[in-house]
Amino acid sequence: MENPGTTAGLDSPSVFPMPAVAAIAGNFCRSLLDAVLPRGCAGCERPDAVLCPECRKLLSRPCRCELRGSSTGFSYACGAYSDALRQAILAWKDHGDEECTGPFAQALAGLALLIGVRQAAGGGAVLIVPVPSSPRSVFQRGRWHMLQLVKRMSRLLRGYDIDSSAAPVLTMRGVKGKSVEMRGLSQRAGRVGGHMALRRGSDIAGALVILVDDIVTTGSTMRQCVGALRAGGATVLTALALAQAGDMWLPTRLLDSPEAFI
Ligand SMILES: [Zn+2]
Repeated sequence: MENPGTTAGLDSPSVFPMPAVAAIAGNFCRSLLDAVLPRGCAGCERPDAVLCPECRKLLSRPCRCELRGSSTGFSYACGAYSDALRQAILAWKDHGDEECTGPFAQALAGLALLIGVRQAAGGGAVLIVPVPSSPRSVFQRGRWHMLQLVKRMSRLLRGYDIDSSAAPVLTMRGVKGKSVEMRGLSQRAGRVGGHMALRRGSDIAGALVILVDDIVTTGSTMRQCVGALRAGGATVLTALALAQAGDMWLPTRLLDSPEAFI
């Protein structure tokens, strides 16, 4: 039976096993503590900030990586997966720091504007598709963090008169696994191979799509997702991520040449 936590339109499981209950309880306790205690920056622990200005700057250093099958030919990331940005993403992704969803969505929406999503859409609709998490990861976290992120990102883009909406149309089938931190690159590439698929009933024929992930490593996950989206008849404009890991990324002049890549 399909995991109810990955059903279209939901960002949290409707049936909670014990790990999910523990995650939700942990998040709730954290929220209570945050209400009475000042919090520190998710990246560097500087007081009184969700993400301090210095750490936000780490999300303004775009890089790109080749991505065949997309309109741009590249995927783009807000910054490099290292140091304080790595710390902040892990706090958000695996340790329930949901307040980071806001600044992360702002960074991704800004990157989408930089690569020219407005011109590409031409007044039409754009679907923002999250890379799926494994059912086990969704249960353990008590939430589908990527769906929360793309919902916020879509809302921000609508504020720029772009008809964008979150579209959780992809699913990962028959996979047991942990986060990118827990496995080597080759293992991860093998794990996702052939496992990305369109959800039953998803109709994306003719749709313009931007794929969004949190961390890019080899790009294998994105390639699988692009394949599934194109097989469903969608045009994949590009793929965006919060951070690019490893040394496969290329420098980009995005910030010098705004909206020049689509
Ligand atoms: Zn900081």
